[in-house]
Amino acid sequence: MSAIPYGRQWVTEEDVKAVSDVLRFDWLTTGPKVEEFEEAFAAKVGSRYAVALSSGTAALHAAAFAARIGPEDEVITTPMTFAATANCVLYQGARPVFSDVEPETLLIDVSEIEEKITPKTKAIVAVDYAGQPCDYDELKNIAKRHNLTLIADACHALGATYKGRSVGALADMTVFSFHPVKHITTGEGGMVTTDDPELAKVMRIFRNHGITSDHRERERCGSWFYEMVDLGYNYRLPDINCALGLSQLKRLDQNVSRRRELAAFYNEAFSRIEAVRPLTQKADRNSAWHLYVVKLDLNKISIDRKIDRKDIFSSLRNEGIGVNVHYIPVYWHPYYQKLGYKKGLCPVAEEAYEEIITLPLFYAMSDNDVSNVVAAVRKVVSC
Ligand SMILES: *Cc1c(COP(=O)(O)O)cnc(C)c1O
Repeated sequence: MSAIPYGRQWVTEEDVKAVSDVLRFDWLTTGPKVEEFEEAFAAKVGSRYAVALSSGTAALHAAAFAARIGPEDEVITTPMTFAATANCVLYQGARPVFSDVEPETLLIDVSEIEEKITPKTKAIVAVDYAGQPCDYDELKNIAKRHNLTLIADACHALGATYKGRSVGALADMTVFSFHPVKHITTGEGGMVTTDDPELAKVMRIFRNHGITSDHRERERCGSWFYEMVDLGYNYRLPDINCALGLSQLKRLDQNVSRRRELAAFYNEAFSRIEAVRPLTQKADRNSAWHLYVVKLDLNKISIDRKIDRKDIFSSLRNEGIGVNVHYIPVYWHPYYQKLGYKKGLCPVAEEAYEEIITLPLFYAMSDNDVSNVVAAVRKVVSC
């Protein structure tokens, strides 16, 4: 059996054509496709503005910059995420403060956030882990009470809803990634959505070296004049990539509904395998299912022999299942350890880390693929 990856892109001939059309046109980088993609994206998630950036990580950095996070500041975030979520705080010279997650959803536990707030706290960066939105009403209340900026890292959650409202319009700024494993891809790419015109403006300047006008605008005005008003970066997303993104965006709903179908199939199958527990889905949210994560009840798997997640992981890989683990708690990474973060900070996340495994989930998976994954899991946990 050939290996089933944990995630992969879905690219069609229509996407290929959209990209090759741009290659025959005048603008390869900052051209009309950037605005077209931004406008279509904002309309899709229901925000006023969308700002395209060269990666999800650049998008996080831009959001942290626009929130005016700086040295001396603290930003509350979750340890159960990709390092980039917390790194954007470090880029700004500030300190990430890790707040623990709920054991059954692995979303940031809103009941613990306020204990972590100090006079230095400037923002919260929440993560819609695996595609399920966080409790945004509660996060907004906390942010409002303490005058904090709420940033949503929704790199897993494009297409998800919270109380019927779409992710992308629930926080002060919402960050998306278009890496190939995500719901839509531009190769590399990212986006920040916001309703605040000032934040959007700051991020547009930030992605272009901190310069107030771009090459195309100057051409339009017949002017050579520009000013650098902030220290920015080259975080622009080229027209080529935006054309791919626009084309991919048209199939977002189809992509998400297939993922929901596949997740429902897994959920049903695992409801009959005691040692495998899918994450809990809250009734007021509809996940976009970026990842399919289960917790392994290792005590149920083996009574007489110590089995750990590593054994299950290797056995599934041997069965041709491209399993993965999302995530090592961020502050366990050597760089964070060097900064002085101690193990034990977030016990729920640390315990969950030992039990979780990510199973394949992507648009092009066939019903047969899912059945094969379930069969392999059943075999591995019952030996
Ligand atoms: C993918 C991802 C990112 C980073 O996105 P890139 O486009 O790879 O830079 C950040 N946060 C989370 C939660 C992600 O899954």
